Amino acid sequence: MSESATGRAHDAVLRHIEDSLRSGELKLGDRLPGERALAEQFGISRASVRDAIRSLEVMGVVRSATGSGPNSGTIVVSDPSSALGVALRMHVASHHLPVKDVVEARIMMETWSLEHAASAAWSPEQLDDARRLLEAMDDDALPSQVFTLLDSQFHVALSTLAGNVVVSTMMESMREAIRGYIDDAVERRGGWAEAVDTLRAQHRGIFEAVEARDGERSARLVREHIEWFYGQAI
Ligand SMILES: [Zn+2]
Repeated sequence: MSESATGRAHDAVLRHIEDSLRSGELKLGDRLPGERALAEQFGISRASVRDAIRSLEVMGVVRSATGSGPNSGTIVVSDPSSALGVALRMHVASHHLPVKDVVEARIMMETWSLEHAASAAWSPEQLDDARRLLEAMDDDALPSQVFTLLDSQFHVALSTLAGNVVVSTMMESMREAIRGYIDDAVERRGGWAEAVDTLRAQHRGIFEAVEARDGERSARLVREHIEWFYGQAI
């Protein structure tokens, strides 16, 4: 099969799966038809089917499990943020997406989220996720890479309170995209012991403003926090 024919075969399988997801014929947790069945249905090689399934895996749409048990086969999953995160990280690494622009976009989304969280309907239990992360970051023995990971989870936990899954997914991906850069900056600059106290105090301020449903204050504090950290890192 020529290269363009392989490409078309691959696209046909992807389009078919997209249509099936849209129509609800395929749902989360469902199993895709086997490789051989798909190859026969589209009149293409099993290699082309495998290729299409690998692309879906990279996009976070399916997960392949080997073996013959009830959990084997290719399952429909939903993991959009890891896929977006990997793509963003690659483009940040290639310097196609400047870190400065990613940081600006992050500020836009986080301030929007915290402003909207003030009037959104969330339960005290939902805030507990962020509280647990806040408390975990108090541990003085945490290596900086673990702290920055908890830090990113804390921001995502707060942003989910606004109730917009597209915004929280994109935020998660953006944090993922700049985490490597943040860890490098921490290592390069040193002075982590002093910075970490400031970060803790800033997080506490943001958390309290969110808990008090003060949207203006929490948005202002999160902007100052991100700008301060980015200023430290460059
Ligand atoms: Zn933070």
